[in-house]
Amino acid sequence: MSDPVLPTPEQLQRRLQELLRTTFAAPGNSPENPPTPTEPADKVPPAIQDFHLTPREVKAHLDRFVIRQDEAKKVLGIAVCDHYNNARVMASREAGAPPLEYAKQNVLIAGPTGVGKTYLVKHVADLIGVPFVKADATKFSETGYVGGDVDDLVRELVQKADGNLALAQYGIIYIDEIDKIATSREVTGRDVSGRGVQTTLLKLMEETDVALRGGNDLQSQVQAALEFQKRGKVNRESINTRHILFIVSGAFDKLTDVVSRRLKKTGIGFGADPAAATTLPAELLRLAGTSDFVDYGLEPEFIGRLPVRVVCESLAEGDLFEILKQSEGSLIRQYERAFAAYGIEAVFSDEALRHIASLAVRENTGARGLMTTCEGLLREFKYRLPGSPVRTLEVTPAVLENPDAAIERLLQTGAEDARQAQSRVITQFAERFGEQHGYRFRFSPEAVEAILAKSLEKNISARDLCEGLFKDYQFGLGLIHRNSGQTDFEIPAEAVESPDRVLSQWVVASHRTQDEHDENS
Ligand code: ADP
Repeated sequence: MSDPVLPTPEQLQRRLQELLRTTFAAPGNSPENPPTPTEPADKVPPAIQDFHLTPREVKAHLDRFVIRQDEAKKVLGIAVCDHYNNARVMASREAGAPPLEYAKQNVLIAGPTGVGKTYLVKHVADLIGVPFVKADATKFSETGYVGGDVDDLVRELVQKADGNLALAQYGIIYIDEIDKIATSREVTGRDVSGRGVQTTLLKLMEETDVALRGGNDLQSQVQAALEFQKRGKVNRESINTRHILFIVSGAFDKLTDVVSRRLKKTGIGFGADPAAATTLPAELLRLAGTSDFVDYGLEPEFIGRLPVRVVCESLAEGDLFEILKQSEGSLIRQYERAFAAYGIEAVFSDEALRHIASLAVRENTGARGLMTTCEGLLREFKYRLPGSPVRTLEVTPAVLENPDAAIERLLQTGAEDARQAQSRVITQFAERFGEQHGYRFRFSPEAVEAILAKSLEKNISARDLCEGLFKDYQFGLGLIHRNSGQTDFEIPAEAVESPDRVLSQWVVASHRTQDEHDENS
């Protein structure tokens, strides 16, 4: 076998073009197209023109979804209101008016995982009506060749805004794990490549134009080629990052060491006044100043572009309970909807919520622990109840502690409910049958049981079964009535096994009755 021959770049390009021509010849029939600009970049979107929120209104909105984190809610409220008020004022100024001085209020949120940092930012963006993208700082590399390209974040905003360039220019970019691109070897053990990422991010945070189409990756090239085919030109539009709000976050757990060292050295904190000593991570993070962040390994220019800093606290068991019970976005609502989709009404008691919270807090992943805990606790119910006769699931700690027993019990009571409903159907069938023909027609209790058993065995509804079994009874009972004058019929259990035999015995008996009657008269 010969070695595979790799195509030259020119050959590859020709083949690619050929593939594009044959596969996507019809306009509109293309793979994920880049967003086609729907609003020119220089138009001011209504979300900005009409922005008139106050920090307190922002906080009130966040209170509906996010439990605790009051400080972060306030700080974010102030920062976004400043940011979008400034954007509105700038947008309404005459073209050519001298620029106003404004330092962007980019925000740094420090705090452990799963305590609502992303959730806060997402709800802020929703409230204002601007697009929001999130990424982890660790996915970027200095050059953009190995990892992601930071400019992609801006392009993603355009996608999130459905191609509305004007709106995308006022979006929010949220970058998590920013502490991981700190460069202090001592603290993070990382090499200097983090510095390069900081520099590229810094450029975005200041002001730059980002081409709507990225240059390097294959997807962009393919998209450019497609667009060229469709429109005869390639979109060279760009968007400016001047009004994009940047929010970065990270756990910054080792920053506490930097802060406590400084406090010791400068004689503030433990050294000078033991009473003021603090070892609480959140407290130490709150004391972090610019110099601490620089010691930690963030470039002075970079941290300088993040003037608003706030700490999110870790969540205790009681907070997790509140999240389940009060938050409008509670996971419990999601479970209720999931069960409701199968016609099952799930009802969670407060004790059950406390039980879930007590298990979730042990995961040490903040509110994220609630998801894993609920998933584990409710998995069996979600698997076994859909499609069963169970219509109500009352979730209590006992139910959560022993799902198998609870499910068995539910299935039994569910089956009992279903039996009762089916018995009613059988009784109703008999009443209707009687009414139609002018008799009193009913099933003995044993016959009802036998019909239920047979309908389960044959897996057909009780009504269909009765209609099939007693289809000839109309004629037979008419005969009996004529022979003997009988109008009241109780169907015994044997009739369910052998309806014809029972009916013919009755008919024969009625003839006998008639003969006796004739003889006597
Ligand atoms: P992180 O702090 O790591 O960014 P997230 O904001 O992504 O954490 O939280 C994960 C999920 O947990 C959220 O989508 C939300 O459902 C829930 N959650 C976290 N913190 C809170 C909170 N304080 N109040 C209400 N829900 C929360």
